[in-house]
Amino acid sequence: MPTSMPDMTDARNWFADVSDSRRRRFLASRREGVLIHVDGQVLVNFASNDYLGLSNHEAVCMGAQGALADGVGSGASRLVSGDHPMLHRLEEKLAAWKGYEACMIVGSGMLANLGLLQTLANRHTHLFSDRLNHASLVDGARLSGAATHRFKHLDTEQLDQLLNKHSAKHRIILSDGIFSMDGDASDACRLLELAENHDALLVIDDAHGIGCMGPDGKGITASCDIAKQSRLIEVGTFGKAFGGYGAFILGNCEMIEGLRQRQRSMIYSTALPVALITAAETSLVLIQRGKERQQLQQNLAQFKQLTAKLGFMDSYSPIQPLMIGSDEQALSLATKLRDAGFFVPAIRPPTVPEGTARLRFTITASHSSEQIEQLSCCLKGLLEK
Ligand SMILES: *Cc1c(COP(=O)(O)O)cnc(C)c1O
Repeated sequence: MPTSMPDMTDARNWFADVSDSRRRRFLASRREGVLIHVDGQVLVNFASNDYLGLSNHEAVCMGAQGALADGVGSGASRLVSGDHPMLHRLEEKLAAWKGYEACMIVGSGMLANLGLLQTLANRHTHLFSDRLNHASLVDGARLSGAATHRFKHLDTEQLDQLLNKHSAKHRIILSDGIFSMDGDASDACRLLELAENHDALLVIDDAHGIGCMGPDGKGITASCDIAKQSRLIEVGTFGKAFGGYGAFILGNCEMIEGLRQRQRSMIYSTALPVALITAAETSLVLIQRGKERQQLQQNLAQFKQLTAKLGFMDSYSPIQPLMIGSDEQALSLATKLRDAGFFVPAIRPPTVPEGTARLRFTITASHSSEQIEQLSCCLKGLLEK
């Protein structure tokens, strides 16, 4: 009887050599507010999507703790017996807040996009996708079997041309709201206009924007023409500004009801624990109040002012990337920052295109103005060397 693993090298390339500068590293760490404990070091964390600091906010934690009295897991899919009334209540609140008719909560942003595109599109559909879209949209497109046309990052001119060229009946434009590795934003209103002109649907995944960007923190679509919103579907996550875990899809009643009936990534997966729903509901109240968002904007303004001449990429979001180029240089700078007490990740290919390795700073409401000042000062010193 064979006892070793079958040889999968050709099929999967699992064991191919990965160079040191390419190997993905998983650092076991423990977070304590804005600090992070890694390898016996305590660092200031500039690598978190917890933009408003809600992941350890007292009220958010208390809500979750209260709900834990009834247990941890939901026990089943929403379709079977996991569909707690709290889920529906939060769906209604999210829809009302964002100005949509309806909302559906799902397990995570990744599951939201995989399932959404698998449900909405088939091999007769044509998808039009920004080149820098998040992996979940890319993989959802693949899963759907639809023909996919990619347009240059943020290039709505090219998108318009592609839409003119490919006149299939079912067409869907796909874009991130705030882009996760560049921190820049799509022109949602222009995309919506193009969707209207070309009779297409528009899916905006504003995972990074909802909760901290746009009017009242409602994300980047909040300033668009509501009348056109029947062709807009939006995805948000509880994993970032909400400080929790889970995700949601917003759209009109017909769309959301269709997804409830068909979206496999929701139907065939265990419902989110009520403790997380309770936490997200409390986060929504705090987001609506706006205090943390105001602090975030203040911190961001300070950081941008102090680093204005250091060559950061153009971004007004909490994602502030500094383009470096080579993998080795990006890694070396990240190591030096770590030695100085700051945790900042070097983002390398294949997460970003070849030759565009970068440091990705994320600013949050929890950073103190001293921490931001010390980081900027340290970075200036390192870059001048
Ligand atoms: C983080 C992110 C996701 C994934 O969301 P999770 O809830 O973490 O699975 C999806 N899309 C975008 C644009 C993201 O940045």
